[in-house]
Amino acid sequence: MIVFDEFYHERSFNNGECDQCKSNNTSPAWCQTCDPPRTAQGWTSGNNGIDNYIKKIRYKTIKYDEFIEWIPFNRLKNIQKISGDLNIKFSAVWEDGIRLIFVNNRSRIPRCKVTLMTFFSSQINYADFLKNVEEYVQTANNCKLFGFTQNPSTNEYMIVFDYVRNSLNGLCSRCNRYNTSLAWCQTCDPPRISQGWTSGNKDIDDYIKRCHLKATSHEEVIEWIPFNKFKNIQLISEGNLDIGFLAVWIDGKRLVSKNDKEPIQSRMPSYTVTLKTFPGSHFDFLKNVSLKLVVFLKYIALSHSLSIIYYNSITLFLRLKNIYCQLIIVSYLELHKMNPPMNI
Ligand SMILES: [Zn+2]
Ligand SMILES: [Zn+2]
Repeated sequence: MIVFDEFYHERSFNNGECDQCKSNNTSPAWCQTCDPPRTAQGWTSGNNGIDNYIKKIRYKTIKYDEFIEWIPFNRLKNIQKISGDLNIKFSAVWEDGIRLIFVNNRSRIPRCKVTLMTFFSSQINYADFLKNVEEYVQTANNCKLFGFTQNPSTNEYMIVFDYVRNSLNGLCSRCNRYNTSLAWCQTCDPPRISQGWTSGNKDIDDYIKRCHLKATSHEEVIEWIPFNKFKNIQLISEGNLDIGFLAVWIDGKRLVSKNDKEPIQSRMPSYTVTLKTFPGSHFDFLKNVSLKLVVFLKYIALSHSLSIIYYNSITLFLRLKNIYCQLIIVSYLELHKMNPPMNI
């Protein structure tokens, strides 16, 4: 009687031979029988919970370049904060570098740039940290996780990852890697757009910056729009609770265009938009924005059965209702300075 091993059907001559069991590998340079137990040895994070979690994931890993690892903090150099007030992101250079298969052999790209992130709600508690990791990896579909690390001076746990990159998205002029979406680099663009402007109000600035952290493309960036960037403002509706205007936005909405086949960040100038005010303080203003997001998302969830909605709610909303949200953002300070607003 012939007994087939569990991964018999995955084994192929083209993947090379496993040096331990001498069978064909199940994927290039990776034997699903021998490698998971092998890679579970010879390292520790210093915490059993984290070690077990990494080992559990490894048993499900089917490729060499997909398995995650414990990365000692001293292998990460040149760490710089790039964004975030809650979940803080840093860029860093990983000395050992990401794994890749090169001509059927295991290899790495040493000294490559990666992103680190702490979770606001689980900086030093490993169990909460792992819960956050699960959530993040499931919902952030543009995230390629490499592993975890811990800052020994603060005990903060961090994930180490990069965003999925594609040559069709063009090259990022800042880090010189392919972009993560059309003309947009998820490492370099969010921190860049969060600088060099202010609404004059810290709460509003923070709200917009939090949205920036979740933006994954140039088109879905919301921004603070100085009031003098609007012209031809006309009153179109006046309800009990809010007032609407029509206006021409001089800079216009963001879009991606092509320059010599390379996608570039661009705009559609003199774009007609709607402005809307909410009564009350700026705190009410932000509350109103959130409330409308929830109602809107429920509607979308019902009509499209989208499962990613709750985690990524603001991003999704902005993607679908880009202009609307940009305009809500503009309304608070500037329009309420007008007294009464319809005299514009
Ligand atoms: Zn083997
Ligand atoms: Zn970049």
